Amino acid sequence: MQEWQFVMPEKKHKKKFFGNLKAEVIDAKLCCHCAACSAICPVYGITAGDKPIEFPNWVKDCVDCGACVKVCPRWEYKPLNGVGNYVEVISAKSKRFKGQDGAMVTEITATALEMGLIEKAIFVSRDEDWRTKIVTIRDVSQLYDRKVTGTKYCYADSIPALKEAILSSKAVGFVGTPCMVSAVRKMQNSFKKFERVKLVIGLFCTENFYHHQLSEFLLKHKNVDLMKATKTDIKKGKFIVRFVDGSRVSFPVKELEEIIPSGCKVCQDFSAVESDVSVGSVGSESGFSTVLVRTEIAKAIVDKIRERGTAEIKEPDMGAVQKLCDYKIKIHPYPPKKKEEKKEEKS
Ligand SMILES: Cc1cc2nc3c(=O)[nH]c(=O)nc-3n(C[C@H](O)[C@H](O)[C@H](O)COP(=O)(O)OP(=O)(O)OC[C@H]3O[C@@H](n4cnc5c(N)ncnc54)[C@H](O)[C@@H]3O)c2cc1C
Repeated sequence: MQEWQFVMPEKKHKKKFFGNLKAEVIDAKLCCHCAACSAICPVYGITAGDKPIEFPNWVKDCVDCGACVKVCPRWEYKPLNGVGNYVEVISAKSKRFKGQDGAMVTEITATALEMGLIEKAIFVSRDEDWRTKIVTIRDVSQLYDRKVTGTKYCYADSIPALKEAILSSKAVGFVGTPCMVSAVRKMQNSFKKFERVKLVIGLFCTENFYHHQLSEFLLKHKNVDLMKATKTDIKKGKFIVRFVDGSRVSFPVKELEEIIPSGCKVCQDFSAVESDVSVGSVGSESGFSTVLVRTEIAKAIVDKIRERGTAEIKEPDMGAVQKLCDYKIKIHPYPPKKKEEKKEEKS
């Protein structure tokens, strides 16, 4: 197959392909905002960023190529779920980097760069107000920047950056939420050029947010100015914001229900089952990351970390990981329950 050639998907409506995506995914409230459609659109008409995916002049400007439909993880959606296959699982903490938990995403990326398995990796950094900013990591030294590591609870346009990276490099690493991981797999299945993505690190995930909605909620309801925050976290059902002076604000994530995007509410994939290696905090003690090693390349990297002793390694609590995987299926039934069904269950 030629690098940008693919088999056309089937249309469900007599409209251009973006019209099909809009009807079946965006208007149907299934869109997970992975931005794969925006990355692949040959006329760059599909916009992502801190707002719902759209293509302002699609009726006129869509070239009807079908690429957006082809890469969408929510087209003909069948939710993935569970812990998935893995060859090894560890709880670990990097001895050289600081991150959200054990900085194992960073340690794995650094080791992959040092082993020459990847030339670049796409990371999500942030500005002062915690807006996501994409960074291309070319050198391990970039990974000591504390804004580059750590979790940002907002959508990030990593996949458009990934597409740019594969145009100039033959071995790229990627880090993303489970929906982003599935989108990258769809891109790899359809477009030969995406074989250049050699390492896909998935993050455990329950939900994500639009930056403007999260920051507005925090300011209005919790008097929290994100500009003053040093860390944001979701742990044991609590959203926690930490500040420079050591103080913190914590409240139940349930209070954010109104601003959880609809596409997250149909997602059941907690552990990023399609990744090469999945990393999360659940299953590990504070300061450590749970690492589910799924494929050969990830195994080679973790073996190298062990050999070099660049991380402290312990046994994880897989029961806790399984519990969260089951919980996500329970809270996000698909197809979604109608309001009446929910009422009946409560009564
Ligand atoms: C939206 C979101 C929700 C999460 N929910 C859970 C959860 O419910 N339970 C759980 O156990 N873990 C969850 N995680 C994962 C957890 O917060 C840590 O990212 C994970 O434990 C890895 O920690 P670390 O110290 O090894 O990573 P680090 O070494 O600090 O690296 C963090 C990596 O995450 C990437 N990243 C940060 N923000 C984003 C983003 N918005 N989109 C894509 N990539 C990003 C960075 O580029 C970096 O590569 C979530 C992560 C995200 C992004």
